Amino acid sequence: MVNDFIKVKCPDCANEQTVFRKAATKVACNVCGSLLISPKGGVGEIRGEILEVVG
Ligand SMILES: [Zn+2]
Repeated sequence: MVNDFIKVKCPDCANEQTVFRKAATKVACNVCGSLLISPKGGVGEIRGEILEVVG
């Protein structure tokens, strides 16, 4: 089972956002623009707290 989408909490503003875990590009918070995921070897390096695996 592969769970590619996760819900993360922004470390800077506490916004909750569903993101693609294996992002090929940087993913920023929709609210404050803080970096949530930076791509690293095919798997995104996640900043912030993982709240939920969406599927
Ligand atoms: Zn934020």
